[in-house]
Amino acid sequence: MTQDLENPRAPKPGELTFDSPKGRGKPRRHLADMTGAERREAVATLGLPAFRADQVSRHYFARLSDDASAWTDIPAALRDDLASALTPPLMTSVRELTTDAGTTRKQLWRLFDGALVESVLMRYPDRVTMCVSSQAGCGMNCPFCATGQAGLTRNLSTAEIVEQVVAGARELARGDVPGGPGRVSNVVFMGMGEPLANYKAVVAALHRLVDKGPEGLGMSARGITVSTVGLVPRMRELAAEGIPVTLALSLHAPDDELRNTLVPVNTRWDIQEVLDAAWEYARVTHRRVSIEYALIKDVNDQAWRADLLAKRLRNKLVHVNLIPLNPTPGSKWTASRRQDEREFVRRLEAGGIPVTVRDTRGREIDGACGQLAALDS
Ligand code: SAH
Repeated sequence: MTQDLENPRAPKPGELTFDSPKGRGKPRRHLADMTGAERREAVATLGLPAFRADQVSRHYFARLSDDASAWTDIPAALRDDLASALTPPLMTSVRELTTDAGTTRKQLWRLFDGALVESVLMRYPDRVTMCVSSQAGCGMNCPFCATGQAGLTRNLSTAEIVEQVVAGARELARGDVPGGPGRVSNVVFMGMGEPLANYKAVVAALHRLVDKGPEGLGMSARGITVSTVGLVPRMRELAAEGIPVTLALSLHAPDDELRNTLVPVNTRWDIQEVLDAAWEYARVTHRRVSIEYALIKDVNDQAWRADLLAKRLRNKLVHVNLIPLNPTPGSKWTASRRQDEREFVRRLEAGGIPVTVRDTRGREIDGACGQLAALDS
């Protein structure tokens, strides 16, 4: 940890249990924070029968309705009380930026305490992916990532995470996204924050996403990806949750010397430990682990590093996702040369490793990987 202690923004060992939001108070409790049983208790404290909780859940998760005046199966006199107890407003849209003829849409959200987070909707011919934030800011301090530069503001609540998905689902259902009405099929925890550093809220959010209606959105776990810098104890916990989401591991280097600088938490859990936890995840869930590798010119894109990466991943249930670096403002780093990228892919393939190069959708609206910064307001 010597390197970390010299760097005031790098996580210290004691900080790796940051499940409690800091800052001014807590976001309001929302039905998306609660299990079905907790929702029924909440309506009981209003003196109402349990089925009212199911009705509101159905409006929120199935009809995607946040307008209590449209809840016509509930007596008008009860609607406002139920809405204020179960569906308080959590965030307001500050700005929406669109590109790709409206099929890529980045939202900047302001939360109750002024914290800013971003989410991105990406519509493809065969699917719609929502990229969501799990924290305002991030404490992991990866030097190539825009979010990392400002440090951690706070953890998001479960409902603040779920609401980003529901907001995208509403836009699709309303027909606001070119391509006609549609549904969110995929969710990736690749927006702002380190999801496994906000473990409890993120796992509860996963439950809300996969729970069947009216308790949740009824999505398939197969369509959900949780991306991590490699918090090993939390990776092992996630494997045991029984929600077989895809795990993405942000590796970015096959050797500890370089990874210590690109992903500073590597000084706490090194590549061997992180890969062991990833293989354990694959063994328990039968899900192929995705290895994220941002290709940075002359930093991590050398042929020998491709060979070393292939060697470390050989014969595992794995897929490598190469991401051309999205340069962040003021950074000295840039994306690899085309020929180096091609050679990197070729060597991984020669080593028998499935590999794809990620498209960089949303670049023009600072909505691509690692560009979410929410510095403006
Ligand atoms: N904290 C999680 C989620 C972060 S964002 C994690 O680190 O995995 C998702 C992916 O984008 C991560 O793999 C992250 O390393 C990558 N990324 C961050 N900044 C980037 C940049 N400037 N260019 C390309 N990819 C970047």
